[in-house]
Amino acid sequence: MTTLLYCPHCGHSGVAAIEDEISERWKIYCGGCGSSSGSCETIQDAKALWNARPQDERILWQPIETAPRDGTYILGWDRLFGFRETYWDLYGDGSPAKASYLSGYGPNGKWSWLEPQSNWSGSWKPTHWMPSPALPDV
Ligand SMILES: [Zn+2]
Repeated sequence: MTTLLYCPHCGHSGVAAIEDEISERWKIYCGGCGSSSGSCETIQDAKALWNARPQDERILWQPIETAPRDGTYILGWDRLFGFRETYWDLYGDGSPAKASYLSGYGPNGKWSWLEPQSNWSGSWKPTHWMPSPALPDV
């Protein structure tokens, strides 16, 4: 059985195969935005057509709560800064923020970014993330 991919337009997972009773042809409909695939002779063809469409990269953005917090570099995004590479930076032993975390207040670290050329770093509060793209083959 073929699993239907998320809607390439809106990212909605509520998509379903529907048979037109008059033409007896199949289409895949998105319950989120109402877009549909072209109509096909069989349900299998309709599913294949739906799944073959290019995915909108916007659906790769996920809520920051689901991001890895093991130091992996990811792309973060927020409305103010746009996107930049970032990682979860654990608070250091002895720091006030770490003491606060250990007594049950606040997180165990913060989202940090680096700008190595000027040796700048900072922290921010991205709202969304996606995996960093693959590096060039050099
Ligand atoms: Zn949709």
